[in-house]
Amino acid sequence: MHAPRLIPEAAWLEQLSACVIVVIDGKLRYANASALCLLQAESPGEVIGHAATDFIHPLDVSRVLARIRRAESEAVTNPATEFRVYTCRRRLLVLAMTSTHFEHDGQAGVLATFLDMSERAAMETRLRETDENFQRMMNTMQDVFYRTDAQGVTRYVCPAVKNVLGYEAEDIIGLPAGAFYPDPSEREALIAAIRQHGQVHDFPGRMRRKDGAIIDISISTHALFDEQGQYAGVEGIWRDITERKRMERELERLATYDTLTGLLNRRCIIEQLEQALKRCTDGRAHKPLAVLLLDLDHFKRINDSHGHAVGDRVLRQFVDVVMAQKRGSEEFGRLGGEEFLLILRDADEDTAQQVGERIRQAVEDAIIALKPGVTMRLTVSIGLTQARSTDRSPSDVLERADHALYQAKHRGRNRVCA
Ligand code: GH3
Ligand code: MG
Ligand code: MG
Repeated sequence: MHAPRLIPEAAWLEQLSACVIVVIDGKLRYANASALCLLQAESPGEVIGHAATDFIHPLDVSRVLARIRRAESEAVTNPATEFRVYTCRRRLLVLAMTSTHFEHDGQAGVLATFLDMSERAAMETRLRETDENFQRMMNTMQDVFYRTDAQGVTRYVCPAVKNVLGYEAEDIIGLPAGAFYPDPSEREALIAAIRQHGQVHDFPGRMRRKDGAIIDISISTHALFDEQGQYAGVEGIWRDITERKRMERELERLATYDTLTGLLNRRCIIEQLEQALKRCTDGRAHKPLAVLLLDLDHFKRINDSHGHAVGDRVLRQFVDVVMAQKRGSEEFGRLGGEEFLLILRDADEDTAQQVGERIRQAVEDAIIALKPGVTMRLTVSIGLTQARSTDRSPSDVLERADHALYQAKHRGRNRVCA
């Protein structure tokens, strides 16, 4: 396609890949090949002779005309500006244009060059949308998104950090991420894991809040690398799991301890017995192991005469009496109801007998309060047994202890039987 040679001395403009036009008296008098191509003209006649405003988006017309007039009347060069035009095929483009004063045949006009910026404008819109989406997400998320550089300095952290650590994001950006770890070795372990695996999921850690409180966190993060493949820092999310940890600990406590007495519950005291049994029967150094099975005497009567709540209070006082007698290393648990188990590691029969007798006597001597001003006496029967090398499981031991306890009950209660 060839543009008419209205400006013969500018024939070389045809070679330019930049678009060049001349506007005289508001009309396009020249357009080089690139300009005709960009404006999707099938023949020069679709452009030449037409008013410049025919192509300009209505919202940009006055702004562009003002610039054209200025360049027409004064010897000025307009700096680059962007505006929207329609091509001959009604496609909307964004152009960046500079224009300058131009004289032709004694007539004042404007020489303008422009570039198609549509792609860039679309890209910028997409980028802006992406950025707005990112900001919206960062502003609403509960977890903390962060990025550090290779030196571990925080380069970005989202606003949620205020709720979790108590600091504004700006207070943290520029500081080493490690400054918020109560124990630097925990952050070093995290970085070592990220460097080794490239990423971590649910990595446990702790951080110190602005108010000094230590919180439990879970970190999911990956390493960043620059264009040369060099380690450039980390980026990821961490979450305050203090409440989850507290609930886990509470669940563990509930699963481990008896709620009425605070002693180890049935499952745990039997687990302890199983471990003690393994250690004592593992063949090498056979060490003695004794257990005492304790059962309150005529406990049902207390419940029947004073009610269950008073019975519970009596059970707790009984536990206090035993706790005062036992050594710290001896494990004491509630098997259920008013039946308890005491594990005596390294205790031979004589020692176990002495411990049992001491407890029995202490229970007999104790003054148990039923309610303000009303007290009672209590006794306990105790079945004692030693672990044997033939014992395969806790139930073997418990069966013998139960039998011994039955003997104690049978012989009149308030006694220790082996
Ligand atoms: P014995 O001397 O033969 O052991 O007589 P006992 O009445 O103590 O024996 P038994 O096993 O017949 O009764 C145990 C009673 O313990 C039955 C139940 O009402 C009571 N009990 C079990 N668990 C609890 C508890 O958690 N709280 C209270 N208050 N009572 C309980
Ligand atoms: Mg009983
Ligand atoms: Mg019982």
